[in-house]
Amino acid sequence: IWNNCLQNIRQNVDPQSFQTWFAPIRPVALQQNELTIQIPNRLFYEWLEEHYVDVLKSSLQQALGTTGRLQYRISPSRGEGRSGAPAQNGAAKSGNKNTSAPGPRPAPGNPFVIPGVTRPRIPSNLDTRYTFDNFIEGDCNSLARNAAKAVADNPANTAFNPLVIHGNVGLGKTHLLQAIGNHITQKFPNKAVLYVSTDTFTNQLVSSIGSNTTNDLVNWYQNVDVLLVDDIQQLVKRKKTQDVFFNLFNVLRQNNKAVVMTCDRPIIELDIEERLRSRFQWGLSADLSMPALETRMAILKSKADSTAVDIPANVAEFICFHIQHNIRQLEGVLNNLVLHKGVLGDGQEIDLKLAKEVLKNFVTEINKEVTPDVIQRTVADYYNLEVENLASATRRRQVVLARQISMFLVKQYTEESLKSIGRMFGGRDHSTVLYSIKTVKDLMETNDEIRKSLSELERKIRIGRGEG
Ligand code: ADP
Ligand code: MG
Repeated sequence: IWNNCLQNIRQNVDPQSFQTWFAPIRPVALQQNELTIQIPNRLFYEWLEEHYVDVLKSSLQQALGTTGRLQYRISPSRGEGRSGAPAQNGAAKSGNKNTSAPGPRPAPGNPFVIPGVTRPRIPSNLDTRYTFDNFIEGDCNSLARNAAKAVADNPANTAFNPLVIHGNVGLGKTHLLQAIGNHITQKFPNKAVLYVSTDTFTNQLVSSIGSNTTNDLVNWYQNVDVLLVDDIQQLVKRKKTQDVFFNLFNVLRQNNKAVVMTCDRPIIELDIEERLRSRFQWGLSADLSMPALETRMAILKSKADSTAVDIPANVAEFICFHIQHNIRQLEGVLNNLVLHKGVLGDGQEIDLKLAKEVLKNFVTEINKEVTPDVIQRTVADYYNLEVENLASATRRRQVVLARQISMFLVKQYTEESLKSIGRMFGGRDHSTVLYSIKTVKDLMETNDEIRKSLSELERKIRIGRGEG
């Protein structure tokens, strides 16, 4: 039945609109003359009702006869490639599978009049799994996290408007953006919060152009109190989206509505219209960088706890040592471990061997020889420095010590000559290298703390190699 309807609808709307608004609909039940369709979120309901009610009505009546009726159900499944889009307003309280959001019922007699709903109703598109509570803070993210929290605590305070959170893929941009939305929804239930990806916004815009309803779309967006826009790098090369967004942004900002955006690069590097870029720079920009080893371990532990799996410390360290660029990968490894364990049965422990097996799918360089690079990374991590610091000219004590220890370990674990070690540490000559090695040896005799650090470092280096 629904397929018949779809064919009919397809003939009456332009392809882009069809793709955007009708393709995602799933028929879920047919009882007598009432067809229930599942739609991704509240926005769909609004949009369908507003713009396509006639098309829907006539198609349905062709398929079911004149008494045909339509019932909406809002999908509990994932929107935006993430989980559920629970609409925040009464009638559409969604949540678990089948209990979720029975759309408002059509009044008897008139299949398409839906009573008792007031406008404007904004779907929040939020995924309640992402909160501030489960966002682990570290040096790498504290500015972004605290700015996000400040907006969430007081969305009417426009000091940070707009807030832009930028950083590479998999470092928690979407998590923070969603956390803002979830926090506000809880704390200020009357605020209309909307999460949208720039791609979705673009699609909506394109389809509204097709149906001559761009004004409606923009008006509709102007009803939000807090607009959370993910991945604004997707504005690049989309001139029309930039124009519309520019106007929307201005209106929201004039009305003191909070706008928070994420981007995979700093705004200054974003190739968009100058007027838009300069607006985006009015507020606060905060970046997310890759967490240090300790923070990565805390994140892994928190994810493992919430999945109720136990990962031994040495395995956790082994994993975090190797996953250096992307927290999403860290979760991927965790999920894979859990899967493997499940497949292999109860007897299977999460141990280094299993971790190694799983990691092979994520990184290419595990289990190789101890190389100067592994040593430098291990030491830099341990002292909370960048690898580049080790080769720098700095004489800061901590850096000098880390550099000397690295040289010592490279000499110890590899075949590198004094000369080549000097070269890899910023072009130092071989007598400096020799002196560094001697210094570390002396320290090991006299200084307990250094001795402890070294044995810890050696252990980490072995783990880095997968032998721990
Ligand atoms: P991005 O949007 O930057 O590509 P996401 O927000 O999707 O990244 O984050 C990827 C995954 O990593 C998410 O599951 C998120 O929960 C997790 N994550 C990233 N940073 C942290 C953190 N500091 N604490 C807890 N989880 C994090
Ligand atoms: Mg993201």
